[in-house]
Amino acid sequence: GASRLSGFGESVFSEMSRLAVEHEAINLGQGFPDFPGPDLVKHAAATAINADLNQYAPSHGLPRLRRAIATTFEQSYGRAVDPDAEVTVTSGATEALLATLLAILEPGDEVILIEPFYDAYPAQVVFAGGVPRYVPLQAPGWSLDLDALAAAISPRTRAIVLNTPHNPTGKVFSREELAGIAALCQEHDLIAISDEVYDRIIFDGAVHVPLATLPGMWERTVTVNSTGKTFSMTGWKVGYAIAASALTRAIRTTHQFITFATATPFQDAMAAAMEDALTSNYYAELAAMYTRLRDQLHQALEGAGLPVLPCRGSYFLLADISGLGFDTDVAFCRFLTTEVGVAAIPPSAFYADPATAPLLARFCFAKRPETIAAAAERLSALA
Ligand code: PMP
Ligand code: GLN
Repeated sequence: GASRLSGFGESVFSEMSRLAVEHEAINLGQGFPDFPGPDLVKHAAATAINADLNQYAPSHGLPRLRRAIATTFEQSYGRAVDPDAEVTVTSGATEALLATLLAILEPGDEVILIEPFYDAYPAQVVFAGGVPRYVPLQAPGWSLDLDALAAAISPRTRAIVLNTPHNPTGKVFSREELAGIAALCQEHDLIAISDEVYDRIIFDGAVHVPLATLPGMWERTVTVNSTGKTFSMTGWKVGYAIAASALTRAIRTTHQFITFATATPFQDAMAAAMEDALTSNYYAELAAMYTRLRDQLHQALEGAGLPVLPCRGSYFLLADISGLGFDTDVAFCRFLTTEVGVAAIPPSAFYADPATAPLLARFCFAKRPETIAAAAERLSALA
């Protein structure tokens, strides 16, 4: 392979899911629901397929879906979005992120990533010709040191990638923290790429604030989202980017030549899902369901003697494994998968230098209550 691939091997999610299958472990590693998505959405896709919505969609997305995305954003977050000029449908949030980076980076431009980061970010920055610069969240409270962020900005810095609610820490950035980031973006003329795929999976009264809605940020923020998380259909890979028209034009140019378009019937089904959610309790019920599952997994982990860190959003819990005598989180996660029969993700995969990662393990609670109960039983062997 090309030199840009160097340092990027098999993703930790593929590796741990494979190990889970090999050892018949309960997979609380890779983040995806083990319960079905809503019937309404499945039926809408079947209807779309049977209605022969099976040829290429318009490159930037079905008008019906772009309208639903724009209306949803405005209704939820109070900012009007132009579905024709400011929304691009992509093949997952993953493609939205890559299309954005390819659209904005010159060779050698620096992009700030907040550690721990979602594993695709560094690879995508490098593939787009950029150079990642890392700013760590401070464990265990995961606060962001704005001075450290300011110090990481150089004349070559072009963009910052933010993720809120945050995978894997469960942190939901406050309006004050976002304002600090926004001020730096404006001072240094940076583009913010805000990965908000877990915006509907929030707990305990946490409020999700899209960075784009802060004063002065609309023109310089790309908001990335994924219907896979919100409607429990991760395999459909329907994501989107919302951005002001100049940025959207750039993103559409790269998207056009990456995938051209995203699967038509799944777009139509997600339009139906988002239209329904405009007038139903879907988002509140989703958050309530995930609150119950989070609490169930929390109890299971603490019952097994693993202290759990606070989680206000996303579908992941971090457990403190420092008391168990393992040198690395990778060693613990391999042991847990092969010997205990529960798969988890080692968060060191989300650090540029894995040796700087605190000793934690990430567990996904997008699982049926029976799955979590079965995992709890196996985990009790640790206590
Ligand atoms: N960003 C974050 C923070 C994620 O957790 C995920 C899914 N694991 C993605 C992006 C990718 O989303 P998609 O599957 O829609 O490409
Ligand atoms: N986003 C999922 C996670 O964090 C994994 C997605 C993937 O496998 N690429 O677990």
